[in-house]
Amino acid sequence: MNKPKVFILGAGYGGLVTGTKLEKILKSGEADVTIVNKHDYHYITTQLHKIGAGTATDTKVALPISELIDPSKTNFKKAMVSSINSSSRRVTLDTGEVLEYDYLLIALGFEVETYGIPGIKEHAFQIRSFRSTKAIYHQIHKQLALYKEDLDPSRLTFVVAGGGFTGVEMLGELAEGIPALCQNYDIPSDLIKIIAVEAAPSVLPFFEEESIDYTNRVLEKFNIDIRTGAKILECTPKMITLENNVEIPTRTVIWSCGVKANSIIQDCGLPIEKVKLPVDSMLRVQGMENVFCIGDCALFMKDEKSALPPTAQVALQEASVCAENIAASIRKSPLKLFEYHHKGSVASIGNLAAVGKVGKFRLSGLFAAFMKKVIEARYLFILGGPALILKQNLNLKHGSVKLAAKN
Ligand code: FAD
Ligand code: NAD
Repeated sequence: MNKPKVFILGAGYGGLVTGTKLEKILKSGEADVTIVNKHDYHYITTQLHKIGAGTATDTKVALPISELIDPSKTNFKKAMVSSINSSSRRVTLDTGEVLEYDYLLIALGFEVETYGIPGIKEHAFQIRSFRSTKAIYHQIHKQLALYKEDLDPSRLTFVVAGGGFTGVEMLGELAEGIPALCQNYDIPSDLIKIIAVEAAPSVLPFFEEESIDYTNRVLEKFNIDIRTGAKILECTPKMITLENNVEIPTRTVIWSCGVKANSIIQDCGLPIEKVKLPVDSMLRVQGMENVFCIGDCALFMKDEKSALPPTAQVALQEASVCAENIAASIRKSPLKLFEYHHKGSVASIGNLAAVGKVGKFRLSGLFAAFMKKVIEARYLFILGGPALILKQNLNLKHGSVKLAAKN
């Protein structure tokens, strides 16, 4: 009898962890599992901002997928998914190759939301993938080098658009990373201007006042110019325009104003709600018995009104149950209900400060920064056990990782 074919699209938090869990659940010969991802490395999205500011090495954030899966149990295909056709049960890759699936997991993650604001897509930098974030680091170098030639101060002005978690984490890394880079160009670091622009009345608008105050204090200590209640309306290669016609001359806008689901899902013949794939309590796309979806592409309603947010924490919890439910579907046994347990959120502000809430407790300062590192270590543990934690922290060499793929 032919083994059922399982394809996992995306090797991010949701897809990769589902794959590695399936390795433990499925018996040999029970299914043919393949992970498809556009790069042959997995990037730790929650640390991408460090790549942008040069405060972490590439190999801390990008890990070769071949070292994270067991190739005797899981196949890996490096390819870009172009389309999904749920009625013919087929996935088409950019190479033209067609994959026929019995079970499919869609875990293709997020895209940056630009809200159609003129110039953002063309001129702003995005913290979307390893490569798009690395481009920020190259841009900083380029602007520092060009400043030496033309002394144009807009080259030393770096704007972070959006003061949500991503924006605040990026600001902290830039404040610590850029002064170190300035030394290479013999530029006094006090000439650097880092500006935070947030449309809401404060940064981290969803947090309690004490946490917002703490965050403002740390950002101010870093000499970051915080502009709140300031919506960005346009971006050009040389400036951004805010509401009330305020213009900020800058060559570098880092856009972190929110995310949306990967747009590939829009045309796959599956139901779409709030631009995501609505899933049932077993993480199957509504109305489908053989198509699962988790992570930032999935719309999982935690109650009648609100959906789970696009976070790694959600994707990881979903991955565990999803792996069990894919195995249960293959075995024709009952599926498990997914229940989300929020453990808390912590955002770093540079290496030594962070802010967050765990349970009822508000965290800030060095302890919060330590908790953030514990969360990061826990993820490495889920991916590769204590060996991976050691490898990453002792900076042991990975196999060669090609980081030059597009996007
Ligand atoms: P992803 O992890 O985005 O994985 C999607 C995968 O699919 C990627 O490997 C991508 O390359 C691949 N892919 C995409 N399109 C294609 C295609 N067409 N063909 C083939 N492969 C494709 N959440 C937290 O809970 N805590 C945090 O501290 C945190 N920090 C964050 C920091 C930053 C800077 C950002 C941007 C996000 C952060 N998040 C955090 C959110 C979290 O990273 C996402 O919610 C999480 O990555 C979603 O997991 P996912 O599996 O759905 O998608
Ligand atoms: P977000 O939607 O949480 O924040 C975007 C911010 O941009 C908002 O504060 C919004 O008011 C602002 N904004 C939107 N349009 C604007 C405009 N035109 N001008 C100025 N400001 C504008 O997005 P995010 O911070 O990218 O986070 C995305 C997801 O990833 C969230 O679910 C978040 O929780 C998660 N995340 C978590 C962590 C963590 O837990 N440490 C870190 C990063 C991201």
